[in-house]
Amino acid sequence: MKIGCPKEIKNHEYRVGLIPASVRTYVASGHEVFVQKGAGLGSGIADEEYVAAGAKILDTAEEVWAKADMIVKVKEPLPQEYPLMREGQLLYTYFHFAASEELTKACMERKIVALAYETVEDQDGSLPLLKPMSEVAGRMAPLMGSFYLGKAHGGRGLLVSGVPGVAPCNVLVLGGGVVGRNAARMAAGLGAKVTILDVKAKVLEYLDDTMPSNVFPVYSDPVTLEENLKEADMVIGAVLIPGAKAPKLVRKEHLKIMKPGAVMVDVAIDQGGCFETSHATTHSDPIYVVDGIVHYCVANMPGAYARTSTFALNNATIYYGKMLADKGYIQACKDNPGLKKGLNMVMGKVTYKPVAEAFDLPY
Ligand code: NAD
Repeated sequence: MKIGCPKEIKNHEYRVGLIPASVRTYVASGHEVFVQKGAGLGSGIADEEYVAAGAKILDTAEEVWAKADMIVKVKEPLPQEYPLMREGQLLYTYFHFAASEELTKACMERKIVALAYETVEDQDGSLPLLKPMSEVAGRMAPLMGSFYLGKAHGGRGLLVSGVPGVAPCNVLVLGGGVVGRNAARMAAGLGAKVTILDVKAKVLEYLDDTMPSNVFPVYSDPVTLEENLKEADMVIGAVLIPGAKAPKLVRKEHLKIMKPGAVMVDVAIDQGGCFETSHATTHSDPIYVVDGIVHYCVANMPGAYARTSTFALNNATIYYGKMLADKGYIQACKDNPGLKKGLNMVMGKVTYKPVAEAFDLPY
C-alpha cells in the first residue's frame, strides 16, 4: 500500500502523523511511505530521519495526497485539504465528526473512508488512540496551573510545592480517569496535597491502591465538591461522561466561595468544559479571569508539547495502522471489532451511529 503523511496545517499544530519508527515498520511490511517535506519539523524530526527509515520525501501536500492510498495524519482535514481527498482513499486520523457538519459533508462528498482515532476501542471498551493525548494533557495540567498561580498572572502567588516551613498547595482534581490520574500523580510529584473526586467506586479503589500518599481519592457529590473548592488553590477539571457534554460541576456561584487567585485548569473544555464559566482558549492567549479566579481552558493542550505527543500518539496508532495497511481496511475491521468501531465513514456513507444522529443523516 502507498501511505502518505502530509504536514499538519491547523493553526499552532506541530504534531505529525508519522515518526521514523512507524515509517520503518510500514516499509518493513512492504509498503511505500511518502512524507511531505518538513512535515516533522514541528516535532523535531528532520526529513533525513524519514529518508533513513525508508520514506520518500515529496515537496507538496498535493503530491502526498495524490500518491497515497492511505493518509496518516493527526488532525481532521481542513477546507484547504478537502479538494485533495480522493474517492476511496483511507484517512487514518482524528476527525471528531460530530463537532462539524461541514467536515462530515465534505468527507461524504469526496467519498472517503474515514478511520477515526477517537472511536477505535480496546477489548475493555476504552479508547486506546485517545488515551495518549489524555495522558499528555493530564500531566500538563498541574504544570500550567502552577505557572499561572504566579502573582504576575493573577494567581495567588503560591509555589505549588511550598518550601520548608511553608505549606504546599491544595490541588483538587475532578474526575479520576486518564487525565485525572495523570494530573494527580504529577501534582503529587510537585509536592502538592491532592484530592481527587470521582463517582465510580472502582476508580476510587484503583486510585487508592496506586496513588502516592499525598493523593486522597474521595467520592464526588455536591457537598464534598463545595468543601474542597473552598480549600483549593488549583482545580483541574477532568470529568467525562462518554458521548455527552461535560457536566458543569463548578457553577458560577462557586467562584465566590473559592480563594481569590485560585487557578482552574479545565481539561474537559474540548467536551464543553466542566466549569460553568469556562470557554475555550488558545496557546497564544490561554487564560482569563472571572471573579478573581484564573481560568486556563486550552482545547488542544497536547499541541504545546508536540514532540512528546507525536511519539506517544504513534506508539498507539502504529499497531492499528499496520493492520490497516497489511490487510486493507475491510479485512482488518472484520478481524478486529475494536478497530471497526473507528470506521466512521465508508466511501462517503456514514457508518458510525452518533455521527449520523448528530446531523440526521442516513445510517
Ligand atoms: P476518562 O473517561 O478516562 O475519565 C473521566 C472520569 O470522570 C471517569 O473516571 C468518570 O467516572 C469521572 N466522572 C464522571 N462524572 C463525574 C462527576 N460528576 N464527578 C467526578 N468524576 C466524574 O476521560 P479522560 O480521558 O480522563 O478525559 C477527560 C476529559 O479530558 C475529556 O473531556 C477529554 O476529551 C478531555 N481531554 C482534553 C484535552 C485538551 O487538550 N483539553 C486533551 C485530552 C483529553
